[in-house]
Amino acid sequence: MATTLSVLISAEEIQKRVAELGAQIVRDYPEGPLHLVCILKGSFIFMADLVRAIDRPVKMDFISVSSYGKEKTSSGEVRLNKDLDMSIEGGNVLVIEDIVDTGVTLTYLMHVLSQRRPRTIRIAALLDKPSRRMRPVKVDYRGFEIADEFVVGYGLDYAEDYRQLKDICILGGVE
Ligand code: 5GP
Repeated sequence: MATTLSVLISAEEIQKRVAELGAQIVRDYPEGPLHLVCILKGSFIFMADLVRAIDRPVKMDFISVSSYGKEKTSSGEVRLNKDLDMSIEGGNVLVIEDIVDTGVTLTYLMHVLSQRRPRTIRIAALLDKPSRRMRPVKVDYRGFEIADEFVVGYGLDYAEDYRQLKDICILGGVE
């Protein structure tokens, strides 16, 4: 079967929503350093756009975990591939995630990061698929709620393809 791509959220809609999220974050964190923690690789474009919508000083760091290989469903296991470079102790931490699906990845990561004693820790996720949740996750800043579809683009991949698409698209025809 041939693969198909259909636009679910356009580049314009994404940019508008990211600007709103950035403005909300600026309002919510009045002063002091803000540590943005980008979960690689899927969140790199969201992070790059969001950080430019946050008009205040921030520090950026990157962490890499994996729960999906080439499959479209979670293995239920999370592995830490690359840790943060900086300490987050005493800081206001905002974890930047591309999509919350089962909640397994963020449950693991919030547990790991909370042990490092940040002052506050919150989650910004561009996409949320609540119908698939297996573990409860509190998403503080959510871009869009979507149905149970497998999406690619704007940083999200399928077997490392499609990350550079400007729109978020539903990928069909792949089993
Ligand atoms: P969770 O642990 O919440 O099940 O999964 C989170 C991770 O699964 C995301 O960071 C992302 O890498 C991957 N994922 C979940 N749903 C999708 C999807 O629709 N498309 C893509 N490309 N990745 C997804």
